[in-house]
Amino acid sequence: MTEPPLRAELPPPTKMLTGRSVYRVVWKLNTDVLVGYCWCGESHEDVDPIALWDWLLAHPATHDPAGGAR
Ligand SMILES: [Zn+2]
Repeated sequence: MTEPPLRAELPPPTKMLTGRSVYRVVWKLNTDVLVGYCWCGESHEDVDPIALWDWLLAHPATHDPAGGAR
């Protein structure tokens, strides 16, 4: 007897967090590529989630301290 696959019966998200310090990581469909977005709008692609998060968490250090990037 085979069990049906477990499935989360959740609706798709309708809201997205915004603002400073909100990072977003999406998965490119049909690939192994992850795309991370810094809250300044810059994006970076990587297949390695650790490398992607290293890039994301280090990115604010590259922002213009004068307040150019938001
Ligand atoms: Zn950034």
